[in-house]
Amino acid sequence: MILILKQGTDHQKVDELCSRLQAAYGVQTSPIFGSSTIIVGLVGDTSDIDISSLEMDDSIERVLKVQEPYKRANRKFHPDDTVIKVGNIEIGSQRICIAAGPCSVESEEQVKMLAREVSASGAVLLRGGAFKPRSSPYAFQGLKAEGLLYMKKAREQTGLPVVSEITNPSQLEMFMEFVDIIQVGARNMQNFELLKELGRVRKPILLKRGFSNTIEEWLMSAEYIMSGGNSDVVLCERGIRTFETSTRNTLDISAIPVLKRLTHLPVFVDPSHAAGQAALVPALAKAAVAAGADGLIIEVHNDPKNALSDGAQSLTPTAFNQLVAELRPIAEAVGRTI
Ligand code: PEP
Ligand code: MN
Repeated sequence: MILILKQGTDHQKVDELCSRLQAAYGVQTSPIFGSSTIIVGLVGDTSDIDISSLEMDDSIERVLKVQEPYKRANRKFHPDDTVIKVGNIEIGSQRICIAAGPCSVESEEQVKMLAREVSASGAVLLRGGAFKPRSSPYAFQGLKAEGLLYMKKAREQTGLPVVSEITNPSQLEMFMEFVDIIQVGARNMQNFELLKELGRVRKPILLKRGFSNTIEEWLMSAEYIMSGGNSDVVLCERGIRTFETSTRNTLDISAIPVLKRLTHLPVFVDPSHAAGQAALVPALAKAAVAAGADGLIIEVHNDPKNALSDGAQSLTPTAFNQLVAELRPIAEAVGRTI
């Protein structure tokens, strides 16, 4: 349920109203002071609330029922776009953020070198997997803690905040120390125990879409994190499983404008895992920017043929540099910068 308050209602009145509602109905309240309106979102069992008596309250303009099962992630609860600050960068503002780097961290030298290269081309975040959720138990599983340490060293050298994937709550302490944005991979989108743990931390979460999950299921996963108290969630479309086999996954471009309508959370796109082939990555990245994505996460490798994971879809630093140059005018055409 959403309460739209009368213009000019002061903070003290809002606080009093929230306390009253919490005491009377046992609901959680989340007041949002937006650019033009003040909204109080009510989360919990609102079935006992008498709407007509609320509408008589002199600070309440209107009461709206929220039909969707996701509340905190709902744009109705928070009409303005959420902007997440990570170091000096802002995710979800006018500037499109590009994260780039290897699928897996392979050595300290490799990740430092790639960090320098992608930063010079315009990336503002460094990606790199250390705990790899591979489909085969025989495939490279990642450098684990050592990989996170190399990411941290690359951050110290270049200033780029780092993004890396967590696969188990037991890794959380390490991630709090070494990583700036915690990635939840497609395979863990509905690992609810992991999501609940991530709700308790104060770090942004990059939540990838599961292979076969609907947008509503994805938003409910964001809701798990947000209901625990962590509202810094970035959604990342990375392709879904369809009948089509000519690409690794099918990039759901429509998800971008659909999410923009349904939620206030920033939206990233991963063209690398959608395409599965480096040659297709630029076109998908351009389409994502044109469709309104707030950011991209792209795999870049110094020697794709010999990469320990996802070489086929990794761009070389030179190809990445060219792609960013080609993305700039597209961003400008949709009122953004890179
Ligand atoms: C990755 O980013 O390397 C990865 C494993 O992605 P996804 O979870 O989207 O498959
Ligand atoms: Mn990968």
